[in-house]
Amino acid sequence: MRGARRRLVETLREKGIRDLAVLRAFDLTRRHEFVPTGVRHRAYEDAPLPIGSGQTISQPSIHARYLELLQLKGTERVLEIGTGSGYQTVLLSHLVAQIFTIERIPALYTMAREAIARAGAKNVSMLLGDGTVGWREYAPYDAILVSAGGPSVPQPLVEQLAEGGRMLVPVGPMEEQTLKLVTRHGATVETRDVAPVRFVPLYGSHGWEQQ
Ligand code: SAM
Repeated sequence: MRGARRRLVETLREKGIRDLAVLRAFDLTRRHEFVPTGVRHRAYEDAPLPIGSGQTISQPSIHARYLELLQLKGTERVLEIGTGSGYQTVLLSHLVAQIFTIERIPALYTMAREAIARAGAKNVSMLLGDGTVGWREYAPYDAILVSAGGPSVPQPLVEQLAEGGRMLVPVGPMEEQTLKLVTRHGATVETRDVAPVRFVPLYGSHGWEQQ
């Protein structure tokens, strides 16, 4: 799969990803180990794929865009909402100091825990629960990545951003959202629209009502 992975890195470069650390993380992370066997042959396509429980592993170029926008330096403590397959978690493990990740679906949580362990990532802490309330115990975070779309920016996550911290969060109707970059400067919160995106729903007490 090494050749296929190299080609994916080339595709990301062609799509405008310039951050060398981000490209290296994609080169190091074996996406085929994060998808079900039935779609493994498509693991290095730049496409979202089903991972079970009605959820998807996001498109690699979306992950890459997220990671590049955060301008990571390697020293950050990061909160990720929506572990899903654990793929983005492992990409992050190559780019930051510490990751705290939350998933609400038990079957995915268990599969991701195994995949993250197999990948040898040692700087990851995982929680099964509602990520819209964040993870107060380890706050504040230098960056927060929300991998599912909600009706609004979850307030507890804004409160858990460190000074100068950045959060990427898709906000809008279930069918299509706007990716927002939220930056905290003291008591002021700056919000910038980045791009239209399509994510699975963010369910929870500060998201869509749980099904
Ligand atoms: N980045 C993930 C990956 O690489 O596989 C993709 C995740 S998928 C697009 C979004 C995930 O968010 C799903 O696994 C879903 O169960 C999870 N999710 C939705 N609402 C959540 C919540 N309130 N707390 C935690 N996870 C949530």
